[in-house]
Amino acid sequence: MTNTSSMENLVVVGSGPAGLSAAIYAKQAGFNPLVLRGSESSLIATTDRVNNYLGLGDIGGLELHRRLQSHYEDVCGKDRSKIFEVVRAERIAEGFELENGQGEILHARAVIWATGAQPKKLNVPGEESTEAVSYCATCDGDFYSGDPALAVVGGGDSAMEEALYLAELVDQVHLLVRSTVRAKEELYSRVQNHPKISVMLDTSVLALEENESMELELQLDGDRQLNVSGLFGAIGHVPNTEPIRSLAELDYQGFVVKPLATGFFCAGDVFGENHRQAIIAAGDGARAGIEAAEYLRVVLG
Ligand code: NDP
Repeated sequence: MTNTSSMENLVVVGSGPAGLSAAIYAKQAGFNPLVLRGSESSLIATTDRVNNYLGLGDIGGLELHRRLQSHYEDVCGKDRSKIFEVVRAERIAEGFELENGQGEILHARAVIWATGAQPKKLNVPGEESTEAVSYCATCDGDFYSGDPALAVVGGGDSAMEEALYLAELVDQVHLLVRSTVRAKEELYSRVQNHPKISVMLDTSVLALEENESMELELQLDGDRQLNVSGLFGAIGHVPNTEPIRSLAELDYQGFVVKPLATGFFCAGDVFGENHRQAIIAAGDGARAGIEAAEYLRVVLG
């Protein structure tokens, strides 16, 4: 059965740093946003530790998520957030229609889309049973500082950047590229010339396992094995933008290039080129919250 609702002024889709920051700014500008969250937690909640969010020192990802959530509830109210996973979003005459998988409908005059992007998993046996696999060097690299060796998987720009970042922290970084490198020439050249990075082309990880010395044993193709302290997957991200195809221009990977519909705003990691950092997402959310409030002021007169 389809349930319809009255018109909200502003719905924010996504409850990570971008969405919550957008909602706080919009609320303080005089509107009363409703935040929709999916069934999965924000990516920040699943991050082990965060040590570069200005003013917070070294903090667990879950704790940071709780603090953002609690700040949001203090400003916007506990009742202004609900689980509602949007599967369809469309422009209608007075605003937007949002639908979830159960056929429930919400209407809003303005929408901020801040659903983030999930790192692609390697999908190899052992990946889910260890904490020594990460997908963000800037977030987790520091915890391996001074270690003998790390591995990075991927052959694109992200993998090059991750390898270069990690090479400043540990003695040796092994860059495992399953086929050929597709990164920009300039980035790859810096990697090739870096004394601490060894590039292994045509190399796939088949399985991984933590041994008794807390090393990660990587089973590679060609019957090879590599032992490292940690592995960083850098094989791309998947943004949750399928429902907004008619509202924003997307690139070939589904990242937002720019919002198209009037009254529709995007924030945070749904944009492909924003470094995927919580503090940047929060700042971008603030920008979207201010812009949405300015838009609503005009629309509501
Ligand atoms: P890309 O899609 O460019 O590269 C993904 C890499 O991961 C490829 O080498 C791919 O190999 C490999 N890969 C994919 N799946 C697997 C797997 N299961 N196992 C092993 N390897 C795998 O992703 P990026 O995140 O690097 O970049 C995304 C976009 O962001 C690009 O447009 C990039 O230019 C941009 N970017 C730009 C930066 C900059 O300009 N400084 C920094 C970071 C990103 P294969 O080729 O075999 O498919």
